[in-house]
Amino acid sequence: MHHLWESALSTLRGRLSEENYRTWLEPVQLDRLEGGTVTLRIPNRFYADWISTHYLDLILESLSHESGVDTLEVDWLVDEKLQQMLDRRADEARREEQQERAQQQQRPSAEAPRGPRNSAPPPQPPSHPPADSGLNPKYRFDNFIVGPSNQLAHAASVAAASSPGTRYNPLFIYGGVGLGKTHLVNAVGHRVRQDKPDARVLFLSAERFTNEFIWALQNHRIDQFRERYRTSCDVLCIDDIQFLAGREQTQEEFFHTFNALYHADRQIVVTSDVYPQQIKEMEERLISRFQWGLVADIQAPELDTRIAILKKKAEQEQIPLDDDVALIIAQKVQSNVRELEGTLLRLAVKAELTNNRIDVDFARDALGTVVPRLEKQTTVEDIQRATCEYFNLRLSDLKSHRRHRAVSFPRMVAMYVSRQRLKLSYPELGDRFGGKDHTTVMSAVKKIGGLLDKDDEDVKNAVAAIERKVGFS
Ligand code: ADP
Ligand code: MG
Repeated sequence: MHHLWESALSTLRGRLSEENYRTWLEPVQLDRLEGGTVTLRIPNRFYADWISTHYLDLILESLSHESGVDTLEVDWLVDEKLQQMLDRRADEARREEQQERAQQQQRPSAEAPRGPRNSAPPPQPPSHPPADSGLNPKYRFDNFIVGPSNQLAHAASVAAASSPGTRYNPLFIYGGVGLGKTHLVNAVGHRVRQDKPDARVLFLSAERFTNEFIWALQNHRIDQFRERYRTSCDVLCIDDIQFLAGREQTQEEFFHTFNALYHADRQIVVTSDVYPQQIKEMEERLISRFQWGLVADIQAPELDTRIAILKKKAEQEQIPLDDDVALIIAQKVQSNVRELEGTLLRLAVKAELTNNRIDVDFARDALGTVVPRLEKQTTVEDIQRATCEYFNLRLSDLKSHRRHRAVSFPRMVAMYVSRQRLKLSYPELGDRFGGKDHTTVMSAVKKIGGLLDKDDEDVKNAVAAIERKVGFS
C-alpha cells in the first residue's frame, strides 16, 4: 500500500502546484484498496470535502492506473494521528517563528529597522500551511545525483549555500519540469541551516508568495509581510517564478523584496521553467536582476545519471533493484526524473501486487505497458489545465466565448495540442471547449499549425511547454 500510494502521489505531484500538493495530498494516506473501494485516511472531515471537489478524479485515475484495479468508491477515515502530525507541524512553525522574533528583538536595531513592536504572533493566512521555513525535508544535497546535465546548477547551489549572499547572488536555476529544480533549491536551504542554525531561510513557491501578498493586502498586514520577506530573511528561495507572469502588483512587490534583500547581502534563489528572458509578461527590471548573479540550467539527465538516480531512489524506498533492471528503466524513461522515479515505484507496486520479483523479464514485460501510458491517458482536460497554467488563465475563461486575444490565443493553442495529440474529432473538441462550433476548432488548429510552420517563437514555446507539462515530450 505504501508503494502504491507513493507512486500515485508521484504522478499527482506533477499535476498539482507544489503548494496544493503539500497542503492537500501530503497529509493523506492510503489505508486500503479492496473490491473497488479505496479507503483514504485524512486528518479531518474538511479534507474529505475539499479533496472530493478538487482532486478526487485525479486521485482515482492515478490509483486505478497504478494498481490496475478500477476504483470507483471512496471511504474516508478520519485519523487523529494525522491531525496531530499537522498540529505538530504548526506548533513547530509557530515556535520557530517566535524564536526568530525573539532573536530579532535582541539584535541591534541597525540590523532590522522596524515599526512599532507587536508581541502577538502574526496571524497566518487562512488555509495556508504554517509559516515555517517551507523546506521539504526530503530534498537535500546528499540525495541529489550529480551528472553533466545538472553539474553547473549543482555546483552553483553548493557555492551559494556555503557563502550565501556573496558570489552567486541571485542564483537563478531554470529547466524543464521534473528535473530537480525544487530539489536543489531546498538543498540550498538545508545546507545553510545546517551550517548556520539561526540563519533565517524561507522557501516558497511564487504562487504562495502571491497568495500571501494578496492576503496581507486585504487584511492590512502588509507591514508584517514585508518584515517577513524583506527584513527577517537571510535566504529567500522562490520556486517557479514564472507564476508571476502578468501579475503586475506582485511583481512590483517582489521587485522591492529583491532589492531590499540584495542590498543587505542576503541570498536570493529563484527557479523557473524557462530562461529569464523567456518568462512571459515579466517586468524588464526583474528579468535583468535575475541575471545579475548566476543563471544555471538543468537539462534532462543522461543515461548514467538516470541509472544512478534510480539506484538512489530504490535504496531510499527499499526496493530491490538489479543493475540490469535499472538499465532497462533508464533506457525507457528519458525525459524527466519525476517520471523516472514514478516508473520505478509503479514497477515495485506491480511486483508486490502480483507477488513477483523485479527481474529483467518482469521489468521488460511491465514496462511494455507501463511506459507509453501518458500519451494514452492524457485527456483534453489535462491539456486545458496545462494551458491555463502556462498562460495563467482560469479554466472558465479558456472555455468561455470571450474573444479577447489574451484568452483566444491560449484557447487556440490548447485546441491545437488536443487535436494533434489526442486525435479527437472537431465536433467533440468543440464540445469539450465549452460548446464551440467545430469550424471554430478547425480554424484554430489551422491557424496555430500555420504559425508553427512559420517558426513563430511564442507559439513554439507555448506548444512545447504545454506538451511537456502533460508529459508528451
Ligand atoms: P522540478 O522542480 O524541476 O520540476 P523536482 O525538484 O520536483 O523537479 O524533482 C522531481 C523529482 O525528481 C523529485 O522527487 C526529486 O527528488 C527527483 N530528482 C530530480 N533530480 C534529481 C537528481 N539529480 N538526483 C536525485 N533526485 C532527483
Ligand atoms: Mg519544482
